[in-house]
Amino acid sequence: MVSKRAANIAESLTLAITAKANKMKAEGVNVVGFGAGEPDFNTPDYIVAAAKEALDKGVTKYTPSGGMPKLKEAICNKFKNDNGLSYVPAQVVVSNGAKHTLHNICQALIDDGDEVIIPAPYWLTYPELVRIAGGVPVFVECTEKNGFKMTAAQLKKAITPKTKALIFNSPSNPTGAVYTLDEIKALGKVIEDAGIYVISDEIYEKLVYGGAKHYSIAALSQKLYDHTVTVNGVSKTYAMTGWRIGYMGAPLQLAKAIDNMQSHTTSNANSIAQYATITAMTGGKEFMDKLVKTFDERRTYMVGRINKLPLVSALMPEGAFYVMMNVKNLFGKSYKGRKIACANCVADVFLEFAAAAVVPGEAFGADDYVRLSYAISIEDIKRGLDGIEAVLKEI
Ligand code: PLP
Repeated sequence: MVSKRAANIAESLTLAITAKANKMKAEGVNVVGFGAGEPDFNTPDYIVAAAKEALDKGVTKYTPSGGMPKLKEAICNKFKNDNGLSYVPAQVVVSNGAKHTLHNICQALIDDGDEVIIPAPYWLTYPELVRIAGGVPVFVECTEKNGFKMTAAQLKKAITPKTKALIFNSPSNPTGAVYTLDEIKALGKVIEDAGIYVISDEIYEKLVYGGAKHYSIAALSQKLYDHTVTVNGVSKTYAMTGWRIGYMGAPLQLAKAIDNMQSHTTSNANSIAQYATITAMTGGKEFMDKLVKTFDERRTYMVGRINKLPLVSALMPEGAFYVMMNVKNLFGKSYKGRKIACANCVADVFLEFAAAAVVPGEAFGADDYVRLSYAISIEDIKRGLDGIEAVLKEI
């Protein structure tokens, strides 16, 4: 009954764990949810006030499909000031979250059978968006030894005559890897030579720690600018996940095509959220500093603690708010009669015996890992890791 396209989409691997965690919570177990994909902060007051103002002013009608002119202007200024990128408003499209932006880009860029390179571990939505568009995801395995980063040589090897684009995500969800300028330059050279496109998802741009810096690949050369769509949004930076505002800067022809498609599908993003985003983007430094400082402290605590636990380890991530825990040494062991053969099994054991809900790495193309988010309170992180420690000590 369902179309081939829909039947082709994988069920979320995290669903089973989430369902089980919810059931335990309903039964009164105080489960620590390490799966959090959003900041545990409320949207700053000055943004909420702007939304109220929008309502009072009657900003409740359709806007141009690609976004309010004032918001597009604010986005162009942001791209210029933060990323060294010159986009004019016609190159910018505002959508219902960066996920929607990425979907639009895939629809506008990918033809049936086109290959799209995705470095693994990856954000689990990327392959599905490529498949929905009729494309073929091609995964490049990035090792922990190389900081979970793809090398230029690996990229070169993965490119075929069918390659249309690379999805690039720095800082990365799930690994927290942040590519250095030299690393991006090396990838940029391969991309330029091959003439492929880059979908650069920079949503975690502001969440970098310990001196790591974010660079936009489109800013490196005219050729890269002409072949890159730069994606961003306000969800993570301003704690605005529920507001659903994402945006992109793209070559004009692509931006026009995306605007056309959006005008016939969702039309404009919510007018009140757009209005508030104009205000969000012109302030928020104090909030962001606090966010980064808090995440940095939790990151240091979490990784320090994990690396003192038996059998598991973690690399110090430089960005976003996730830690990949290497659980390979647990494979082949068992706990309370339960055989541990995979990351999914580890997640199951942690949930059942430590009341800690982690995301199994199979979801991200990282079979030897589980992902822990530190977008939860330090008390919860401590409690969750206490539980995990008690289990690990008995294995
Ligand atoms: N890109 C990455 C790597 C993400 O982790 C997320 C959210 O989890 C998004 C994009 C989408 O963000 P949103 O649709 O809330 O703007």
